[in-house]
Amino acid sequence: VHQDELNSFRAAFPGLDQPINDEPLIYFDNAATAQSPQVAIDAVTNYYSNNKANVHRGVHTLGTRSTELYDQARQTVADFIHAPTATDVIFTKGSTEGLNWVAQSFAQQLTETDEIIVSVFEHHANFLPWQRLAQQTGAKLVVIGLTPSNAFDWAAFEDKLVPQTKIVALTMMSNVTGTTIDMRRVSAMAHQVGAVVVADAAQAIVHMTIDVVALDVDYLVFSGHKLYGPMGIGVLYGKPALLNQIEPALIGGGMVALVTNTTAEWLPLPERLEAGTPNVGGAVGLAAVITWLQTLDQVGLQQHVLRLAQALLAGLAHRVAVTTYGVSGSPIISFNLAGVHPHDVATALDQLGIAVRAGHHCAQPLMHALGLTNTGTVRVSLAPYNTLAEVHRFLVALDEIIVYFRR
Ligand code: PMP
Repeated sequence: VHQDELNSFRAAFPGLDQPINDEPLIYFDNAATAQSPQVAIDAVTNYYSNNKANVHRGVHTLGTRSTELYDQARQTVADFIHAPTATDVIFTKGSTEGLNWVAQSFAQQLTETDEIIVSVFEHHANFLPWQRLAQQTGAKLVVIGLTPSNAFDWAAFEDKLVPQTKIVALTMMSNVTGTTIDMRRVSAMAHQVGAVVVADAAQAIVHMTIDVVALDVDYLVFSGHKLYGPMGIGVLYGKPALLNQIEPALIGGGMVALVTNTTAEWLPLPERLEAGTPNVGGAVGLAAVITWLQTLDQVGLQQHVLRLAQALLAGLAHRVAVTTYGVSGSPIISFNLAGVHPHDVATALDQLGIAVRAGHHCAQPLMHALGLTNTGTVRVSLAPYNTLAEVHRFLVALDEIIVYFRR
């Protein structure tokens, strides 16, 4: 990818161009939320300025327009993840909501003899719903651990995958270490014992091409805001036979075919799982981002991020005060400075205009496994709009912090 393409990508994000504490902002908190490009902001503004109306119910022109925009957004998302049909895509608030719905759909199905597999890499959003499901049903929650090099323990997974395993819910990329789990391999193995595969693509959607058919996952979730889109919009993909088994968590307007005083019949997918007025503006903004990304050299942008990550990891490896927990070639790198609390590092970096995340990153089981229960880590997460100059400025800032805390 050419430097001018990288420059124009960066220039598309107005939020990046601002001073923070009198320094130019370096935004290294992309795994929490990415900045939004002007095309997405404009799409949302245009929707609210010119097309705002409720969907499906209006017989008037604006209602029709709003409905069409919402349907188009669903189709755009379906094409992006290679879902066979648009009705396999349910709009949610985000990854958390989708995972909760899927987990609760098993509440009447599992028994004490059943097992659920997750990993120690899970964000709490893909851990707590399964922990609760296990408590509700008496099923056993099996947590796959780490190898000594902080990778997913495939041998343990193979060992724990048994005919009693009903669900395998795994992240495709850890939001703490950037560790990836090959979901195609997971699906092939899990389907042999008849388990349902749930993929948390909240991080992966940004950094890799997602093809739900090739991955053969049964469910997959992601959040719009991490993919440069608006807050409050997310996606739950599911194979239709499974989505149809989910008992709607919310019932009300927009999702019923027939209601009497004593009975109700739901509409088919996707409406049956989208009760109430949907977040049309959010869906429109997300679709605008995806349409824009599809005009770009996405693989080239991903390669640029990996070059930044390599430079950053190499720089961190040079500094004796630094311990890293990231995996090489990952856009997400966690680290600690000896003797300095992660929150102090993050606060000092913010003083220098640099935004990073510090703490347990909603992944406390992983913090336990890494022996970091009481501290957590500092996390840098990169996006294609970040630059090598930013990586270098960050390393210089880190040196200043190391010197400051040594005194
Ligand atoms: N899973 C992973 C791997 C994540 O990184 C996140 C967000 N940090 C989530 C799930 C939850 O996403 P959201 O807060 O948008 O629902």
